Amino acid sequence: MPTALSSVAVFCGSRFGSNPAYAEAAAATGRGLAEAGFRLIYGGGKVGLMGVVADAALAAGGTVSGVIPRFLQSREVMHDGVENLLVTDSMHDRKQSMFEDADAFLVLPGGLGTFDEFFEILTWRQLRLHDKPILIVDVGGWARALTGTIDRAIADGFADPSARALFEHLPDVPQALARLAELGRTARTVHAGDPAML
Ligand code: AMP
Repeated sequence: MPTALSSVAVFCGSRFGSNPAYAEAAAATGRGLAEAGFRLIYGGGKVGLMGVVADAALAAGGTVSGVIPRFLQSREVMHDGVENLLVTDSMHDRKQSMFEDADAFLVLPGGLGTFDEFFEILTWRQLRLHDKPILIVDVGGWARALTGTIDRAIADGFADPSARALFEHLPDVPQALARLAELGRTARTVHAGDPAML
């Protein structure tokens, strides 16, 4: 059963990437989440797309929570504009905290760390440890190879075809934000009508 959707974790690159469309998408995501009233949860840095998402959400008056492991505090140049910053002891604690705090996950362009974060919540959903929406935003086609890898695992018999339903593939930020709003409405409707919640 969906729970209320109020906090969205964004996984994305700690670099800007080579296509300017990536930073534009990150800014549109931060702004859009704030305007829709979602709290942003992210990796706590001010570098690359991570910093762009956080800055845009803050500029639009949004609530932002950052979660950064102690050893990355300087490397990822911790964002001092984010009031709600949690410093964790390890990478695992960071991912666990972001996972527990978020009601949904948005995956924007990124590198190995972004892949790791995506696959971790994907495999946890496969194991039924959670049922939170996972949305990949395929800006400029960056996610094609990633989803192609999953398709190949299915074709090779290493993953069940149902694995494709564990995440949603959205072509751009406006459609991802629209889908989040829709999921938020569904969650609220189910909550309001559920006698167990009264
Ligand atoms: P990247 O996509 O590689 O730029 O990394 C994006 C985010 O993932 C950053 O916040 C990194 O700290 C984080 N990250 C990098 N490497 C890993 C890893 N091995 N496991 C989990 N997160 C990582």
